[in-house]
Amino acid sequence: MKKIATKVIHDGYTPEPLAGCVSPPVYLSTTYIQDGVGNFKDHDYCRTSHPNRNMVEDNISSLEQAYGTAGFSSGMAAISTLILTLKANDHVIVSGNVYGGTYRVFTKVFEKFDIKFSFVDTTDLKNLETAILENTKLIYIETPTNPLMDITDIRKVADLAHSKNIKLCVDNTFMTPIFQKPITLGADYVIHSATKYLGGHSDVLGGFLSCSNKEDLEEVRFVQNSCGAVLSAFDSWLILRGIKTLSVRMLAHQQNAIKVADFLESHDKVSKVFYSGLKSHFNYEIGLSQTSGFGGMLSFELKSGTPENFLKSLKIFTLAESLGAVESLVSVPALMTHASVPKEQREILGIADGLIRLSVGIEDVEDILEDLKLAIDQA
Ligand SMILES: *Cc1c(COP(=O)(O)O)cnc(C)c1O
Repeated sequence: MKKIATKVIHDGYTPEPLAGCVSPPVYLSTTYIQDGVGNFKDHDYCRTSHPNRNMVEDNISSLEQAYGTAGFSSGMAAISTLILTLKANDHVIVSGNVYGGTYRVFTKVFEKFDIKFSFVDTTDLKNLETAILENTKLIYIETPTNPLMDITDIRKVADLAHSKNIKLCVDNTFMTPIFQKPITLGADYVIHSATKYLGGHSDVLGGFLSCSNKEDLEEVRFVQNSCGAVLSAFDSWLILRGIKTLSVRMLAHQQNAIKVADFLESHDKVSKVFYSGLKSHFNYEIGLSQTSGFGGMLSFELKSGTPENFLKSLKIFTLAESLGAVESLVSVPALMTHASVPKEQREILGIADGLIRLSVGIEDVEDILEDLKLAIDQA
């Protein structure tokens, strides 16, 4: 089988015979000619499928070793569509510190339709065992989690889920298939916010839901086509282009993040560092057993000072939501990504008001370290 650094560049598109374009054209057509009623070549209407979306879906399926993939207009659209395959009174178990938007759509939107959610610390299998109910249909995890980088053992959770006829979904946004392929570890579904590392340049919103088998894919495609939150032609094109450099970008992000984590851990003004690549991480060994890398996301807390003062002097890091692009970004989860999670819940999860999250970019690491050093001095 081809290696992943080759697949990111080649899979999903081969230069088409018409003009021989090495880079794929953008197919903007919304509808397709029928040679007699219902007799069309590959596509009939663009909500159902279109060439650019198929290319990037095929590319992701190859990278994730999935049966198939559906491309959505955002990560949240992919997550929502997965939940729409369930029905009232179904129960879902969710990793405690999932992405704030995921927590919000589950509790504020889907609970209204009587789908039930339990949020538990999935790093401990015992919590999952006790949370499973008769009507549990799905376990939904992030590993590593955002922003505390908790690691859940995907193989063990998949075994437990399948022994009870429950499906497992892993949000793989942070690791990307370069470092982690949940379906090969037993997951049934993989979610991506392509807005992050897959796109990689802070210029495209998109999401994917990959499935391990035909039946699940058909169900997802049916709901997607019915509800309509699909990925556009140009956004498909941009994401496919972004993925071409995914392999080199992820290695560069990680190389810088390891140096940043080491720097922070040895800094006397820093009290805690959360990075799955540190030997001090409580689940370092499980991380090693299921990932081939640690990625570029990390969080930390200062012993004293405030995030506001820390943020003031930063020049390389940009204060902004989002993550996973070439430029370094900084955020304060309690005030930004996790503002929709109530304070009491944040405290239970361990998301302190002073927690600072870094999306380490691929600038020169010396500039990154210098920027952090000065900002910590001013905090
Ligand atoms: C950003 C993000 C999402 C939501 O994706 P959008 O593309 O912003 O809709 C879901 N999960 C994780 C882990 C994310 O970081």
